[in-house]
Amino acid sequence: LAPTPHRAVASRAMSAEAPLGVTTPAAAAAAEEEMVAVVDEMVEEAAVWCAVHGLVVGDRAEPRSGTVPGVGLVHAPFALLPTRFPASFWKQACELAPIFNDLVDRVSLDGEFLQDSLSRTRQVDDFTSRLLDIHAKMMEVNKEEDIRLGLHRSDYMLDSETNSLLQIELNTISSSFPGLSSLVSELHRTLLNRHGKVLGLDSKRIPQNWAATHFAEALSMAWTEFNNKRKTLAQVEAEGQVLPDGTLVVDGQTVSVVYFRAGYSPNDYPSEAEWRARLLMEQSSAIKCPSISYHLVGTKKIQQELAKPNILERFLDNKDDIAKLRKCFAGLWSLDNEGIVKAAIEKPDLFVLKPQREGGGNNIYGHDLQETLVRLQKEQGEALAAYILMQRIFPRASLTHLVQGGVCFEDLTISELGIYGAYLRNKDKVVMNNQSGYLMRTKVSSSNEGGVAAGFAVLDSILLT
Ligand code: ADP
Ligand code: MG
Ligand code: MG
Repeated sequence: LAPTPHRAVASRAMSAEAPLGVTTPAAAAAAEEEMVAVVDEMVEEAAVWCAVHGLVVGDRAEPRSGTVPGVGLVHAPFALLPTRFPASFWKQACELAPIFNDLVDRVSLDGEFLQDSLSRTRQVDDFTSRLLDIHAKMMEVNKEEDIRLGLHRSDYMLDSETNSLLQIELNTISSSFPGLSSLVSELHRTLLNRHGKVLGLDSKRIPQNWAATHFAEALSMAWTEFNNKRKTLAQVEAEGQVLPDGTLVVDGQTVSVVYFRAGYSPNDYPSEAEWRARLLMEQSSAIKCPSISYHLVGTKKIQQELAKPNILERFLDNKDDIAKLRKCFAGLWSLDNEGIVKAAIEKPDLFVLKPQREGGGNNIYGHDLQETLVRLQKEQGEALAAYILMQRIFPRASLTHLVQGGVCFEDLTISELGIYGAYLRNKDKVVMNNQSGYLMRTKVSSSNEGGVAAGFAVLDSILLT
């Protein structure tokens, strides 16, 4: 492991409640030495813990990874210690989860709003246009989804300029990492239980993270609401067959819940067959997570429309809830606002330009943002409508130990907190509406994008302050 000066651990420990009691230069040197030893020990322990508890991902360096099960795994990239996070903002983010769940459900019922808001986007964005086609077909036949399941994740950053918690985006499809994020919290708790005393960090300040359990529970409850019991062994024996390749086919087996772990990116639809499958599932009575409407509510364009004045009021009655949501909305603009396009060209570093895409790596920043806006303005038609502009959020940077591929290094980082929300509704009955754990992602502050899978960020958890 690369030797590091371990300033990150020292800086965190020093600012914690129980400092190291450093009084003289000799004591400081001794404390520094102790820190180095503690960090080295923790990195090794953490790497072993990851292997033992399945905090692992596919290893890109191993060619058989992803094709041969159980081969080519490496520990997920992680922060060695949880990131400090003010308890008041943590509480605020948690309180927002059920309100956003509710908002998604209400907006999803307003088909006209979704179609209208995205009508100009559809002219220039083929992917969104295909999703809207499916949605329009469902509207034509007045398709109703009695049972609606949402497994969402609303992401936030702490803006240092305004000292406020601001929403980055709301994910309504394929919200990633409920499984690994729960494990990272557990890893940090284990490390602090062993070393917290010398570091002056209390493991009890890491909030419980039940993301994996809650999401699994919501999926199983959706299955229960569907109310279609599984076949008995006798029925399987009578109706089932095993194909030459080993597949068990049970005649007429009903699928109750369709969970989409893919389908959010154009790459997931390499041919018309995938679009036909998406339409087929949408036409079925199976519970879709997400339904086409929930999926569309999660687009950046709808995020921007909902931030306009008087739009939330169309969907929610509770004034307090509306105020809470609005408080976390950053500046969001459609590109038909000429003033803001001009401002963004002049000061590109204050903005992020976003297309209607998911999964990280799609946003445009700085000089590229400037060039893109100038080019789009010159193009005929609705080219600008494929994007939205967002206020750039500037979280305060702090020193962190990052562990990637068994190597520990120190860098200045910023963090993004995601709060999971699970929602299940059957007609008028809200079966579940929960805050369901969290995901902290920490990235080197010089990197614009934040994806863990994309290699930009590491998994992290939080330590309440
Ligand atoms: P995606 O759906 O692809 O995840 P996001 O809106 O979450 O799209 O943007 C990807 C990443 O870009 C975020 O994780 C964050 O690191 C960064 N980002 C997005 N919006 C902003 C913003 N307004 N200010 C600062 N960084 C941002
Ligand atoms: Mg997203
Ligand atoms: Mg995101």
